[in-house]
Amino acid sequence: MKVLIVEDTITSATVVCRWLTNMGLSVLHAKTGEEGLEMFVQDRPDLVLLDIIMPGIDGFEVARCIRRYEKQRDGWTPIIFLTARGDENDLQYAIDAGGDDYLIKPVSEIVLKAKISAMRRVAQMRDSLRKAQDKLKKANEQLQRLSALDSLTGIANRRQFDASLLREWRRCSRSGKPLSLLVVDVDLFKLFNDHYGHQMGDECLKVVSHTLQERTRRQGDLVARYGGEEFTVVLPETNPEGALAVAEDMRAGIAALRIGHAWSTVAPIVTVSIGVASIIPPRDCEEGIPALVKAADNALYSAKESGRNQVKQARGVIRVVAPGVGGGRPV
Ligand code: GH3
Ligand code: MG
Ligand code: MG
Ligand code: MG
Repeated sequence: MKVLIVEDTITSATVVCRWLTNMGLSVLHAKTGEEGLEMFVQDRPDLVLLDIIMPGIDGFEVARCIRRYEKQRDGWTPIIFLTARGDENDLQYAIDAGGDDYLIKPVSEIVLKAKISAMRRVAQMRDSLRKAQDKLKKANEQLQRLSALDSLTGIANRRQFDASLLREWRRCSRSGKPLSLLVVDVDLFKLFNDHYGHQMGDECLKVVSHTLQERTRRQGDLVARYGGEEFTVVLPETNPEGALAVAEDMRAGIAALRIGHAWSTVAPIVTVSIGVASIIPPRDCEEGIPALVKAADNALYSAKESGRNQVKQARGVIRVVAPGVGGGRPV
C-alpha cells in the first residue's frame, strides 16, 4: 500500500512518515498542494494524508481536484485530512471538499494507524464491490448474447428474427425500399431423423444453418432458426429478383453439401425448399408483418407441393390486413 502525505511542515511530515514506514507502507511526501496533485496523478497512491494550510493551493482545493480527476476515471482514493485547525466549520468544509476523515494535529501514532487501517478496509470493500460489478456486467452481456442465439446452431433465434424483421420493416417503410423474406424448410427431415437418429439430425441442422449464413451477402441480412428444421432469412432493401437469387443460391448450396439422405424421395441427399416474399412496407402499418411471413410460408408450401428442393415466390401484392390500409405496394 502506497500513502501520499501532502504536508509543508517538515517536522510533522517526518514523524508521520516514520510511523507509516513502520507499518510497512511505502510513503511519498509532497511539500506543496501542486506537488501533491502531480504525485497523485503520477504515482497513484492508495491513500492520501492531506494538510490544509500550505503555500499555494490549500488542502481543500487539492481534495476537490483529486475528486474531479477521479470522477472522470470512476476511481476513489481515501483522503484523510491531517491539520492543526480544530474548528468544526473546517471539518465540515473538508468533508464537503471530498475528505473521508479529519484528524487534528498533534495526532497519536495509535489513532493514525487505526484510521488508516479502517480506511484501508473501506477501500478494499469498494474494490471487491467493483470487481463483483464488473463480473455481473460481463455475465449480463453474455446472457444478452445467448438470449438472442439458438442454442443448437449458434445462429440467431426466433426472438432476434422478430426484432430484426420489425426493425427492417420500419426502415424500409421509411425509405420506400423493398423488404424480402425467405422461409427455408429441410425436406423430409422426419425421415432423416427416423433413419439416421436425432444426433445426426442435429449435426445436419448445424451444417445447414451455417451454410445458409455463408450464403448471405450483405451486412443487414439475417439468418435465424425459426423453429425445428425451419429457418428464416431477412433481406432488407432487396427486391424480388435479388431475393430469388439469394434463395436459389442457398438451395443449391445445401444440395452441394451432399449430405446423404437415402430415404428421401426427392434426391439421395438433404435438400431444402424455400418460399420467398417481398413487400414495400406501407407506412405506419406494422400489422402487415404477419402477412409477409404468411406469404413466404404459402410460397414454401407451394414449393413442397411442386416436388420440394426448389424455390417458389409469392406473386403480386401482399395484402396487408389492417383497418384503413389498402395494402403494400407491389414490388
Ligand atoms: P417436409 O418436407 O414436408 O418439410 O417434411 P418433414 O419431414 O421435414 O416435415 P415434418 O414437419 O413432418 O417434420 C419435421 C421434422 O424435423 C420433425 C423432427 O423429426 C425434425 N426436427 C425438428 N426439430 C429438430 C431438432 O432440433 N433436431 C432434430 N434432430 N430434428 C428436428
Ligand atoms: Mg501546513
Ligand atoms: Mg421439413
Ligand atoms: Mg417444417
